Amino acid sequence: MSLPPEPLPGCDLCPRLVAHRRAIRAAHPGWFNGAVASFGSPSARLLVLGLAPGLAGANRTGLPFVGDASGSLLFPALAAAGFAREGDPPELHDCMVSNAVRCLPPGNRPTAAEIRTCRGHLAARIAALPRLCAILCLGRVAHESLIAALGARAGAHPFAHGARHRVAGHAVFDSYHVSRYNVNTGRLSKPMFEAVIAALRRYIDAA
Ligand code: SF4
Repeated sequence: MSLPPEPLPGCDLCPRLVAHRRAIRAAHPGWFNGAVASFGSPSARLLVLGLAPGLAGANRTGLPFVGDASGSLLFPALAAAGFAREGDPPELHDCMVSNAVRCLPPGNRPTAAEIRTCRGHLAARIAALPRLCAILCLGRVAHESLIAALGARAGAHPFAHGARHRVAGHAVFDSYHVSRYNVNTGRLSKPMFEAVIAALRRYIDAA
């Protein structure tokens, strides 16, 4: 089934996620509580791809990475490299942010079927970015869904922090996810993430 680049907020293709949205809406009626669309420039050369909306971040604000700990690492790093200006919400320059799965999954864990279903939006999103030059995958799930969306085998392009791949004409960069968990456990530090963004900046400037 072919899907549009962006789901409607009430997209109902994944019944478990729709039920979860309903439950969260009952507890937090003022929150966005829907399928979260990509955010940023339609002429972006950089696409940043995360896993899924955070409970009190994107699921509350309706904008990927806005309002939670992930965004507080992501947006300053993008701003330092000229891809954003910090604010509430931030402004994105030559950049778009999105998620492999557009609805909040229970426990931050989408099922394989949910990832596969929402991949239709991801593939369409990529196809609808005419100037796209590089994609940054935050974490293994985003990486593997992107590789599949580009029609390649994940086994031929294994995820690794700092890795760079060439897939279907796109430069794919990998980083550990900017989650609070990864930062608190020391898996990802601010300098490690800034180094990935700086490499992206150099790549896009030279492309
Ligand atoms: S995860 Fe994607 S495909 Fe599934 S309901 Fe949400 S927007 Fe629709």
